[in-house]
Amino acid sequence: MDWLTRIEELSYLGAAALFILGLKKLGSPATARQGNCLAALGMLIAIVVTLLDRQMMSYTGVLAAIGLGSVIGAIAAYKVEMTAMPQMVGLLNGLGGAASALVGIGEFCRSVTLGEPLTPSTLITIILGVLIGGVTLTGSLVAFGKLQGLMSGTPIIFPMQQAINLGLLVAFLVASGWVWLDPSQLLLFWGLVAIASVLGVLFVLPIGGADMPVVISLLNSLSGLAASAAGFIVGNSILIIAGALVGASGLILTQIMCKAMNRSLANVLFSGFGSTTTGNGAVTAHATAKSVRTIDPEESAMMLGYAKSVVIVPGYGMAVAQAQHSVKELADQLERLGVDVKYAIHPVAGRMPGHMNVLLAEANVPYPQLKDMEDINPEFENVDIALVIGANDVVNPAARTNPGSPVYGMPILDVDRARHTIVIKRSLNPGFAGIDNELFYKEKTLMLFGNAKEVLNQLIAEVKHL
Ligand code: NDP
Repeated sequence: MDWLTRIEELSYLGAAALFILGLKKLGSPATARQGNCLAALGMLIAIVVTLLDRQMMSYTGVLAAIGLGSVIGAIAAYKVEMTAMPQMVGLLNGLGGAASALVGIGEFCRSVTLGEPLTPSTLITIILGVLIGGVTLTGSLVAFGKLQGLMSGTPIIFPMQQAINLGLLVAFLVASGWVWLDPSQLLLFWGLVAIASVLGVLFVLPIGGADMPVVISLLNSLSGLAASAAGFIVGNSILIIAGALVGASGLILTQIMCKAMNRSLANVLFSGFGSTTTGNGAVTAHATAKSVRTIDPEESAMMLGYAKSVVIVPGYGMAVAQAQHSVKELADQLERLGVDVKYAIHPVAGRMPGHMNVLLAEANVPYPQLKDMEDINPEFENVDIALVIGANDVVNPAARTNPGSPVYGMPILDVDRARHTIVIKRSLNPGFAGIDNELFYKEKTLMLFGNAKEVLNQLIAEVKHL
């Protein structure tokens, strides 16, 4: 091993260590930014070292691509709304899958054209890379289309769907075996690429729009595995390590989301959740004749201003209304009056993991005020007011009490145990799960109807007068 190779391997080791350290720091909102920077530094080292590799043929094309990619990436990062982050991540996963599949396709075509035989193990890795990369690309594009509203967000289910998927998978395996035995079969290889692409589309079609974040996390994991496969194909250790880290962390995240929704991954992928609303509790608000108690901003402000403790529970509606800055301003005003203010964060509030943490961090809410579900739930009994802002499913007591409910068993924030609960939302319409929420009809619950941001601004104006 010459000294150049030694430096390269050592730099890769350093980059890998930075990736792992970065991932660890991403585990807490307080250190997440630092974690991002460390991982980005690791990536910079990995790119520079790879570019300095002596086998590099021409820098012009690579640098032009980096420049163009950086400009597009920077513009997208500035422009994309927080609520559109899942589809942005989806698109990036798809590109990752495409890049890995292209590496495999490139290597295969090169070997056929130049007549340079591939080793059997490289051939298997290429086929795997094409399968995972192809599924990731087209699956992510469908996920993007659903979340961006370019196509129907509801599960698309048709007869014999699973049988067709199985048939395609068997066809892929048979064709792979053929290509493995006779690696000059270029046309058959393109057939593999086509089957993988169709499988990706069929895999995501039956999944409901709001289950898409789980799928995106899974596709993220797959894009990591595809990158690892590409690393094996071109013999690049940092690509193998980075891919494995993405693969593992994506899988862990998928598992965390499923657990917080009390659903198995198989249920998310194959149940077509949201395509029908069945079971007890699966009724829309319009269908119920129960009555609710309403409150206006003036009265709410009095209650909040004279409370000892208020726990704010943000949900998807806060994200839609972009009300995080107003939430912080209201909290500041309440604290000025001596109210103890905390925030209760449910792991799947919003539409992506950490959604609420990111939004509240953007509004400079101090991290120590953010409480996890396990920490805050025992406290609710002693809380004067639970202020629910655009949250619905994550505070639905049916998850505790109604075994027939689709959300039964999902851990929730026990806001109904507070002395009073004020719920800010526009109507009695259901949230993601499409089910009615018995919280709204409880005696201690007061509904404050309106767009979260507008209502909060009215509350701020009223509290300022106290
Ligand atoms: P929900 O989707 O249950 O409810 C959001 C509520 O916000 C709606 O009922 C809506 O009521 C209200 N709302 C919408 N826009 C506004 C607005 N502008 N102003 C005020 N209110 C508004 O959200 P939760 O956060 O409680 O729950 C998240 C759901 O998403 C869970 O079911 C979870 O399982 C699911 N999920 C979460 C993922 C994650 O990673 N976070 C991933 C996948 C799924 P109205 O229309 O009446 O205003």
